[in-house]
Amino acid sequence: MASHATLIPGDGIGPSITAATVRVLEATGADIQWDVQAAGMAAVAKYGDPIPDTTLDSIKRTRVALKGPLETPIGEGFRSINVALRKTFDLYANVRPAYSIVPHGRYENLDLVLIRENTEGLYVGVEHYIKVGEDPRAAAESIAIITRAGSERIARYAFEYAVKHRRKKVTLVHKANILKFSQGLFLDTGRQIAREYAGRVEFEERIVDAMAMNLVLNPERFDVILTTNMFGDILSDEISGLVGGLGLAPGANIGLHGAIFEAVHGTAPDIAGKGIANPGALILAGCMLLEHLGQGDRALKVRRALEKAIREGKTVTRDLGGSASTDEFSDAIIAGL
Ligand code: NAD
Repeated sequence: MASHATLIPGDGIGPSITAATVRVLEATGADIQWDVQAAGMAAVAKYGDPIPDTTLDSIKRTRVALKGPLETPIGEGFRSINVALRKTFDLYANVRPAYSIVPHGRYENLDLVLIRENTEGLYVGVEHYIKVGEDPRAAAESIAIITRAGSERIARYAFEYAVKHRRKKVTLVHKANILKFSQGLFLDTGRQIAREYAGRVEFEERIVDAMAMNLVLNPERFDVILTTNMFGDILSDEISGLVGGLGLAPGANIGLHGAIFEAVHGTAPDIAGKGIANPGALILAGCMLLEHLGQGDRALKVRRALEKAIREGKTVTRDLGGSASTDEFSDAIIAGL
């Protein structure tokens, strides 16, 4: 029986890389019925809303989406796309795998996954200015909210991910030496969950500043990394840099009521419409979607074909040192399936 999934082509380079991704996934024989929906500027043009209810309703039905990058319109009255998606589907886990594909990169043999708490911490949006004397913006306060329940579910997600993907170690990254309450609660909760997995998954802790350095010096030491919202935001871009940049960095947002797969990069306005964008990151996000739908064998085929095309280096996009178009690169992947 066909699986159903929502497809959001998105803005800028989005439509061309989503079309390429769908072609590659379909070439594996994956039986997915795509429900194509608009979001971002494309949806503002059509519905006057960057995240229309029809799109949310589609994801409510299918519970899984592949999303091209979206341009968030600036201005009063527009809903924030990410906040709407995160709230509606409670997408609490942001999962960003990174492994070495490009040959002769700075590091060989890297294979890490960063799992970031996606709904709490400093990004809850509790911020305000404080007036002192005549200055209405004399000070500003941003509040980080960390809950035991939120920490528990993300820690459990990371350990379950490790077990399911046969990974050996979870490294919890924190700053509890300074932020003793909020980061301390995240650390204590992580330690408790780690005990449940003792003997199955190794556990270690790192302070975030030392971790940033360790990731540059010895990234091959790490396996699954578990951290809070803002540290995850920063470290995940650092990690994508270790394996060759944004063109090959996929991500998944997983929640209790849905899962949304996307590339980490944005709409790349500087190259939009030129047909030269690298579809690799979204294709890898498509592989995560296939795995989520229980079609891991097909995902593996796509990964192998993508790696082969990149290692051969003949038909790759400019950001990977070649001169192929988006479609030529996708055709090379399809030929290698
Ligand atoms: P960007 O990721 O779009 O581009 C950064 C640089 O990387 C550009 O030089 C671009 O050409 C290059 N690049 C990105 N993806 C590429 C690809 N697949 N192939 C080849 N080169 C690629 O970041 P930006 O310029 O800061 O943001 C542009 C827009 O995207 C903004 O409106 C931003 O809000 C949006 N954005 C959306 C998402 C999302 O929807 N998930 C994520 C990030 C940014």
